[in-house]
Amino acid sequence: MEQKYADIIIDISHENLDKTYQYAIPKELWDKAVIGALAVVPFGKGNRQIKGYIVDITTAPKLKVEQIKPISEIVNDALIIESQLIHLAYWIKDTFGSTMNDALKTVIPVKKQIKAKEKKTIRLGVTVEEAKDYLVECKRKNNKGRVRLLEELILQEELEFEIVTGKLNIARTTISDLEKLGIITTDVEKLYRNPIRKQELQKKNIELTTQQRLIADDIIKEYQEGIRKTYLIHGVTGSGKTEVYMEIISEVIKEGREVIMLIPEIALTYQTVMRFYKRFGNRISIMNSRLSQGERYDQYLRAKNKDIDIMIGPRSALFTPFENLGLIIIDEEHEGSYKSESPPKYHGREVAIKRASLSGASVVLGSATPSLESYKKAMEGEYKLYSLSSRIGKAELPKIWIEDLREELKNKNKTIFSVKLRELIEDRLSKNQQIMLFINRRGYAGFVSCRSCGHVMKCPHCDISLTYHKSGNLICHYCGHEELMPGKCPACGSKYIAAFGTGTQKVEEMVKKEFPQARVLRMDMDTTKNKDGHEKILAAFSNHEADILVGTQMIVKGHDFPMVTLVGILAADLSLYAGDYRASERTFQLLVQASGRAGRSSLPGEVVIQTYQPEHYTITTASVGDYESFYEKEYAYRDLLMYPPAAHILAILVASKDENKAEEMASQIGEAAKQWVILHLESKSTFIIGPAAAQLARANDIYRYVIYIKKREYNGLVQMKNYLEEVMNRMELTKDCMTQFDFNPMNSY
Ligand code: ADP
Ligand code: ZN
Ligand code: ZN
Repeated sequence: MEQKYADIIIDISHENLDKTYQYAIPKELWDKAVIGALAVVPFGKGNRQIKGYIVDITTAPKLKVEQIKPISEIVNDALIIESQLIHLAYWIKDTFGSTMNDALKTVIPVKKQIKAKEKKTIRLGVTVEEAKDYLVECKRKNNKGRVRLLEELILQEELEFEIVTGKLNIARTTISDLEKLGIITTDVEKLYRNPIRKQELQKKNIELTTQQRLIADDIIKEYQEGIRKTYLIHGVTGSGKTEVYMEIISEVIKEGREVIMLIPEIALTYQTVMRFYKRFGNRISIMNSRLSQGERYDQYLRAKNKDIDIMIGPRSALFTPFENLGLIIIDEEHEGSYKSESPPKYHGREVAIKRASLSGASVVLGSATPSLESYKKAMEGEYKLYSLSSRIGKAELPKIWIEDLREELKNKNKTIFSVKLRELIEDRLSKNQQIMLFINRRGYAGFVSCRSCGHVMKCPHCDISLTYHKSGNLICHYCGHEELMPGKCPACGSKYIAAFGTGTQKVEEMVKKEFPQARVLRMDMDTTKNKDGHEKILAAFSNHEADILVGTQMIVKGHDFPMVTLVGILAADLSLYAGDYRASERTFQLLVQASGRAGRSSLPGEVVIQTYQPEHYTITTASVGDYESFYEKEYAYRDLLMYPPAAHILAILVASKDENKAEEMASQIGEAAKQWVILHLESKSTFIIGPAAAQLARANDIYRYVIYIKKREYNGLVQMKNYLEEVMNRMELTKDCMTQFDFNPMNSY
């Protein structure tokens, strides 16, 4: 008869997640012994009964069968948050393809507690009446210290220990004597480091507009009726989505349940956090990548101890251990940063929906430019769709100009500013209003090449071109390699070697040259490397310390700048050539978000989109903010070429220091995939592309090969992944090669 075995983790802490012990599952426990369940098992020589979590179930014994002990019992406690998170980890491993260990490490935090600060408070241990009687006695005995302390405690319920020993000048012996008598008590409370700087709570009372009210009320009504589902709010920037979120959050926490709110890290500014803090006070906490491990662990404990109800943060906030989670909100749900770039390569949106279903929560997605994935589901009725089509108050959507750069060149304009953009910049500078100039970084390589022989300077470790920096050095943005700019071409010796393309630094220089009267700030990867660099630049711009902010996609998020009345997009279509199927979607998002920066207050805004392809549907639809038309055209294209979300793609990356081994392993996997397709009669519905050298064929001296498998239906692709995983584990070459699965990759390999 078949036997089942469970892998059990005894000590569920980050360092010990890979230490599992195998136990047999007695037949009568088969139903209850599921992944994540808490089991009682005999442990060690003395068979001490201890508890552990089941993290995997198999039919293969790892030891001699008679040496495997059976599980004693399963503890029935569905509420245990660890069980839920382990279950979620298993689902992540299964759905996105990773090891269980990597998946567990994603959901369980590193236990790293810095000695917590303590707050001691002193209270009466008797009733006020009894204290008053005792006070009379102390006065009679002329015991001044006791009198002072009791008088104070009769007035206020509690006092901080430091105030008692400090300001009131009461001896510690007095405190301990009174404590022994039971007249007072001292309580020790752990103070967690709260990453939010305290500020006065000031409730701004905002009346929701009719449109906002309808959405909030509808979601709240369904929530109260016990309906749990996923909602998508498609609302233009500045239409008041955040106010709607806060209204729903308020209802959910009123019912004693908790909320996780995901915001892309880049939009998680002080301004945003303060908005939530002002409404919900210290019941919220934030998570971000700049927190130390100790601080993160504190957040984890505060959530577990129910000291907070709302966690705001990027992707990793999804694993906050709330036991009564009622709602997950994902703002800017289209953001690529919700997809993990290291294994497990999970998508936060999908994990959120899974976690919500495990804990009986609803999910609210919001965006001005929803992902095609979410919009498709909304169209099909899987998500409930709402839209907010106008901006709040007087703020009008900006006027948009499309400028054809080919025409500019014909008219002998060789600068990066079209006539229209230059005219509007002059105008704004004269009015003392602000301007944002936006460069689409993708495609703007800033690479260095020889005009005689065409030689391109490349990183010696990676297969990508080096970027020229003002410092005079060439830098690899991938591995950090740095070298001097050569005086002549290393290939042909010509001295005509120079940097091409236009980076942010170059644009900054050109702005300064063309508009010498303007004060210019630049925001890109280089200027925001330091802690808070990003915040500082935005704050300076917000204080009007500069007239023009030049930057990459970073500048389109976060802050509201009421004085910005002009946004220039220097070459809108460059990112259309990024070479992956999401290029148009990303360009559309960038154009809409960038346009959304102009005219946020009562001053009207204008946007200039400069492009070489004014007729491209991405440009035409973005310029009028017509998401629906963009969606239809883009979806038709994806459907035709079987790209997500019309179909699904599994990418398998094989990497090795040894090029031949990487190639050989990739080809063996490709063969296995083909066999599988033939065996399952799926050659009409499954397409295998490759194996081939990856676009980034070498990184950090590691060679990379990639196989893409396309299929309409996701589950079929997961089954294929499971099969290939087994095959790969048996391959001799696994010793020398690293492999990774990535479903519906965000970037090409
Ligand atoms: P979104 O999240 O869609 O970009 P926000 O919620 O940030 O929009 O709203 C944009 C601006 O309008 C904010 O300054 C916000 O305080 C304000 N606002 C939102 N709703 C209202 C309302 N009903 N009445 C007045 N001001 C509002
Ligand atoms: Zn490199
Ligand atoms: Zn040359």
